Amino acid sequence: MQKGYSKNEKIKYYTPIENPILYKLYGWVSINKKPVFHNGIDLISKTNNKDVFAITDGIVIYNYPEKEEKGKNSKNKLKTDVSDNYVVIEHIINNETYFVKYYHITGNNFKEGQKVKAGEKIGEYVKCTDCNYDTQEHLHLSFLDVRWDYIDPLEILSKLFPDVFRLK
Ligand SMILES: [Zn+2]
Repeated sequence: MQKGYSKNEKIKYYTPIENPILYKLYGWVSINKKPVFHNGIDLISKTNNKDVFAITDGIVIYNYPEKEEKGKNSKNKLKTDVSDNYVVIEHIINNETYFVKYYHITGNNFKEGQKVKAGEKIGEYVKCTDCNYDTQEHLHLSFLDVRWDYIDPLEILSKLFPDVFRLK
């Protein structure tokens, strides 16, 4: 059932979506003529499959709808197809710990502390409701190191999937 791209036989790694293409890079971008720091990369599936997969085994450490939706009906929010929901998963990749934010996804129903398997479907990417400049459905993917500093996801992904991602 796992549709991702497996690179390594022993430790399984999957691209977060099927046939990803880079839609927006990490770093400073100009939005409405103002500089904005884009803290991750945006990906779209070439084959238009919106399923989002865990890159590798991990532990859910933060699930947006559960924490931020207190007092509102979080179940309804989970069912909408336009969402800023995100999930943060702690992954160990090449012996380093990373916190990976999978952003603008819906359909996830994780509890914090829950384990996820490499290649497990964790949601579907949808439109970003905050991004009024950008109506394209996409997965925003951010990598944070152990100090919770953002790093360029391509630094990691280009090593795992050299055929798919290149460091610009
Ligand atoms: Zn983005």
